[in-house]
Amino acid sequence: MPYAYYTMLWTKTKNILLDIFFPPICLACQKLLTTGPARHRPEPKALAGGPNKLICDDCLSSIKLNTTLFCPVCRARLAQNQPICHFDSPYVLGAAGNYDDPVLQNLIHYFKYKKFENIAPVLSEILVRYLENIFRNWELEIRNFIVVPIPLHFWRERQRGFNQAKLLGEAMAKHFNLPLILGLKRIKNNKPQIKLKGEEARRKNIAGCFAIKNPEEIKGKNILLLDDVFTSGATMNEAVKILKAAGARKIIALVAAKA
Ligand SMILES: [Zn+2]
Ligand SMILES: [Zn+2]
Repeated sequence: MPYAYYTMLWTKTKNILLDIFFPPICLACQKLLTTGPARHRPEPKALAGGPNKLICDDCLSSIKLNTTLFCPVCRARLAQNQPICHFDSPYVLGAAGNYDDPVLQNLIHYFKYKKFENIAPVLSEILVRYLENIFRNWELEIRNFIVVPIPLHFWRERQRGFNQAKLLGEAMAKHFNLPLILGLKRIKNNKPQIKLKGEEARRKNIAGCFAIKNPEEIKGKNILLLDDVFTSGATMNEAVKILKAAGARKIIALVAAKA
């Protein structure tokens, strides 16, 4: 695919040029990353470390991770071993952090809208920490899950160069040794949800956007459904509807941040 190849080449070249002309600074606080007080301290476990370091240790450790699952309808924290408050909700929400966290918001903004693909490992690490905690506390068996990312429409993925949900999904599948199933496809290129105001408009915009590739991959499975953010919930609701209709069992909608 020559177009994709050139896009990739351009992204690589652009990143190299950026490194030369702009010294690496923290995305959140703009502090120079090569110097500063964090340098003599041991690196926190591989987080955004290494050559693609994007965010300073102070900002990174300032991100507050959630410790519970949530009700996707009212966003209430769910207590362990308690039934969900909106018991007719066909899924629960797992959100590593909150979108009003300035550092997390910055990371997601650069990841989603500025096409910084190398933010994926940072957000993935945040998700891993959150999820390990959840599965430990909830005594859920993570090995029984498959990972399904929310797909982007072909053209949108081509424009951005990557699907942010898929990158996060790949990282989860790899870390927890789970099957990554690209089981959903986008059959309608809808307007970006961010451009629409109100839940009703967002719900209509996303309706009929997804289809199942192969119901056999979904039937009877517990699913970690990956996306970057959860705002109105319209995208997740629609994807869950389709997955449930295909026979999915337990679904945890997993995002880096909820609004
Ligand atoms: Zn910083
Ligand atoms: Zn609720």
